[in-house]
Amino acid sequence: MKLTILGKSPSWQDADGACSGYLLEEDGSAVLLDCGNGVFSKLRRYRDYTAVDAVVISHLHADHFLDLVPFSYALTYAPRQQSVPVDRWPGTDKPAHPKLYAPRGAKEVFRRVVGAWGNEDLIENAFELIEFEPSDIIDVGTLRFSFQDVPHFTETFAIDIASTNGGGRITYGADCSPNEALVEFAKDTDLLMIEATLPRAERTGKRGHLTPQEAAEHAQRAGAKRVVLTHVSDELDELWVRKCACRIFRGKVDVAREGAVYTT
Ligand SMILES: [Zn+2]
Ligand SMILES: [Zn+2]
Repeated sequence: MKLTILGKSPSWQDADGACSGYLLEEDGSAVLLDCGNGVFSKLRRYRDYTAVDAVVISHLHADHFLDLVPFSYALTYAPRQQSVPVDRWPGTDKPAHPKLYAPRGAKEVFRRVVGAWGNEDLIENAFELIEFEPSDIIDVGTLRFSFQDVPHFTETFAIDIASTNGGGRITYGADCSPNEALVEFAKDTDLLMIEATLPRAERTGKRGHLTPQEAAEHAQRAGAKRVVLTHVSDELDELWVRKCACRIFRGKVDVAREGAVYTT
């Protein structure tokens, strides 16, 4: 399995960056994991957007789904998606219509977002929208997706992606506060991609994110073979983030960078 980091910013983008978006590929299949602001443009560097089989959304925060809007406009209005010839595009009777797996309530949230300018059904028409249940197992080609509820400010799912073809396993923690469920869910995974958003734990209110130390503790306890720390702003010191995690996690530690490629 091949993972390409398209975007890794938290809820505001790095300079020239994008929010959460990760491209998973194996044996000709491609799945976009989260589609935050800026991700559609980054996706276009690495994969034809009409050759994405499915998009899977971890939770309904803007930095994880907002670029479904430009993606939907492309699927709807791009010349190459039309049934008649437009400019140099010959016309197609099979326009791309990827599956879009999103948490329960997604259809309503998307309608509210694009409904703000009168395009209520833009996303549900562009994609085949499927609201997944936490217990669902989803197969896209040889990639098998399963879900684990994790604590965050809205219903959020960690996502495990296992190759059914012997191509390894990647676990994505999404956004979450410290929790035991993710440790169990990620047990013995080949690669844990986990957020390390915070320079220090939240001092007040409900917790919703992790520090690099906490992220590394989750990886260590899960027995992950390697860890990629993500959702880290370019306004934090990447070396400090890495150093904090290396003190705790005994395997290989990376801080996510746009364009980085990992294979399992
Ligand atoms: Zn986020
Ligand atoms: Zn979030």
